[in-house]
Parts: sequence; structure tokens; C-alpha cells
Amino acid sequence: MSDRIDALVKRLIRPELRAMQAYVVADPAGAVKLDAMENPYTWPAEIKDQWLGELQSEQLNRYPDPQANAVRDLLKANMQIPAGVDLLLGNGSDEVIQMLVMALAGHDRTVLAPEPGFVMYKMICVYTGMRYLSVDLQDDFDLNIDLMLESIEEQQPALIFLARPNNPTGNVFSEHKVRAIIEASRGLVVIDEAYISFTESHALGLLHDYENVLVMRTLSKLGLAGLRLGMLIGRPEWIHEVDKLRLPYNINVLTQKSVEFALRHQAVLSSQAWQIKQDRASLYAQLQALPQLEVWPSEANFLLFRVLQGSADAVQQRLLEQAVLIKNMHGKHRLLEDCLRVTVGTKAENEFFLAALKTAI
Ligand SMILES: *Cc1c(COP(=O)(O)O)cnc(C)c1O
Repeated sequence: MSDRIDALVKRLIRPELRAMQAYVVADPAGAVKLDAMENPYTWPAEIKDQWLGELQSEQLNRYPDPQANAVRDLLKANMQIPAGVDLLLGNGSDEVIQMLVMALAGHDRTVLAPEPGFVMYKMICVYTGMRYLSVDLQDDFDLNIDLMLESIEEQQPALIFLARPNNPTGNVFSEHKVRAIIEASRGLVVIDEAYISFTESHALGLLHDYENVLVMRTLSKLGLAGLRLGMLIGRPEWIHEVDKLRLPYNINVLTQKSVEFALRHQAVLSSQAWQIKQDRASLYAQLQALPQLEVWPSEANFLLFRVLQGSADAVQQRLLEQAVLIKNMHGKHRLLEDCLRVTVGTKAENEFFLAALKTAI
């Protein structure tokens, strides 16, 4: 019986999918969780009570507003989206990436992204059977413009993803290089601004300057990872087409109502983001003071650092034994040898992490 189903699975499931590992999410099991770029803060009790009060009037037997118009209007005002620019919502920006890839790529089309970078670009290309091509960043993690322009010329990618700030490196790619890539590309360039809350630079101006640019954002890193709300911002001509393959009702009732509530109480989230930026600076300084480490400046809510040669796996394991969960980047890319990535937590979490790290290295 089990032999038969194994043979059937082998025959029917696409080989590239069988060859893949499922995206593994570590089980925190009571550890201090600093591996997934979550905002560590919850809401004050009175705000939480108001939120729960508002949810009481929601009717779960009814489908949600398919366009999520109230949420979209609030988001447009909140992000100061210029007139003539439209907004499409996804179940996290992961779903937005999936919609974009499905809308643009075909069997003869290529998706291009610099690496090390966000892993979902590649994974979603594998899921959807699209060709994916990566171009290495420079040693300082900025874009290698010569290599990028060469690949664009040779491969003519239909879609290019640029995460700004980049994950897992935390830096913001130089604007003149981003512009050069957009100008050289005959395809669409998507600027992924998942970490917009932790940096001063943003790309909305590029939407005005170029026709082949879209901007992607998410509420996950700001503090609403559990709600799953991502967005695509751009000219209506693009948004209109991508919207055709959006599944109806992709933003559920509880997410719509909770996001509306959260945006009316935006000050809470903004001050949490401000606090995270302050604590990022002090965590950076304290990591930099450790002679065994190399740490990179970051405009996101995490820091990438390098430990002594050959010790990343052991350091991560010793942190785990002390109930601290961070992400091991070693082995994921040539430029990430011996590297680990830590999310900025609360002051207490950061101190706990630092104390554990000092004994682990
Ligand atoms: C976390 C992250 C996302 C995904 O965010 P969701 O909205 O939670 O799906 C997208 N891009 C980058 C670069 C990220 O780091």
C-alpha cells in the first residue's frame, strides 16, 4: 500500500518540487525568539480591549469585502500614496510575490534577483515552474552593477526583485545603481520595501520617474506579522492586470478589521518602530565591541554578524542551549560564511542575547 502511494507521488508530483525542502520554520519552544524579524512588542491592554470590542460586531458567516476598500483607503492615506498610484493587497507580501511571478513569468521568461537575498523570490519561482537567476552582490553587499547590467542584457529578465533594505544583509542598495538597473531593464523592477519602517530611504519617487517600477510593502515587520497583509503599489495599468489573478477574498474579515483598527492607532506601532531603531544602534555598538565578531550596519530591524571561521553552527547551537533562537546564515551563500542574523528584540531580550552570545563565541 505505502509502496503504491510512494510510486504514485513520484510519478505525479513535479520533480523540482519533490527535490525541494519545505520552508522550515524553527520551533521556538519557549526560547527568546530573534530569528524572524518580528516586532517584539504587543499592544497596551486598553488598546487590545478596544480591538476585541470592535471585532465583536464582525460577521464571520459573511465573505469579506473582496476589494478591502476601507483598508486600502486607510493605507493610501497612511503611506501618502500619490494620486494616480494604485494599491493591491496580498496575504502577506509573499502572496504578492507569487501573484507577480504568475502574472509575468512564463516558461521562456526569467526572474532575476541579487543574492544573498530574500529566499522566497527563488522558492516561488520553483513552485510556479519559472526560471530564476541570481547575481552575486559585491563583498560590501551593495549591488554589483556591472554583473547586474550584463545579466540584464544577456537574459532580458521579465521581472527583477530588489529588496531595499536587503534581507539578510540589512543595507540599502545605492540609489544610482537601482536607477541604472531600472533604466537598463526592459522588464518590470519590483522594489521590496519590507523594512521601510526602519529606514529613511524609500522608492515611491521611482514610481513617478519610471513606468516599469512597482513597490512592495508589508505590515509584518512593523508589528502585524500575524495578520498577513502585504501590498503592491504602482501604476494602475500594472495593478489592474495583477489583480485579475488575485484569489477573491484573499484578505480575510479579521485581518481587514484588525488592520483598520491598527491604522487608527498607528502611533503605537510607530513608537515601537522608533524604539527598535534606538535599540538597534545600541545592539550594533555592543556587537562591534566584541573583538571576535564582525558586524554590519543595518537599516532594518535585524543585524548580520560574522563569528570566527568555522564556528557559526556551534555558536548557534550554544545560543539555542541558552534558549536564544537566531538565524544561521552559514552555508546559504558564499558571502555569508560564518554569518548569523539576529532580530532586534526588546531591551531585555537584547541583553539576554548578548550575555548568551558572550559565552557562546
Ligand atoms: C519578511 C520579508 C517579506 C515577507 O513579508 P510577509 O509580508 O510577511 O510575507 C518580503 N520581503 C522581504 C525582503 C522580507 O524580509
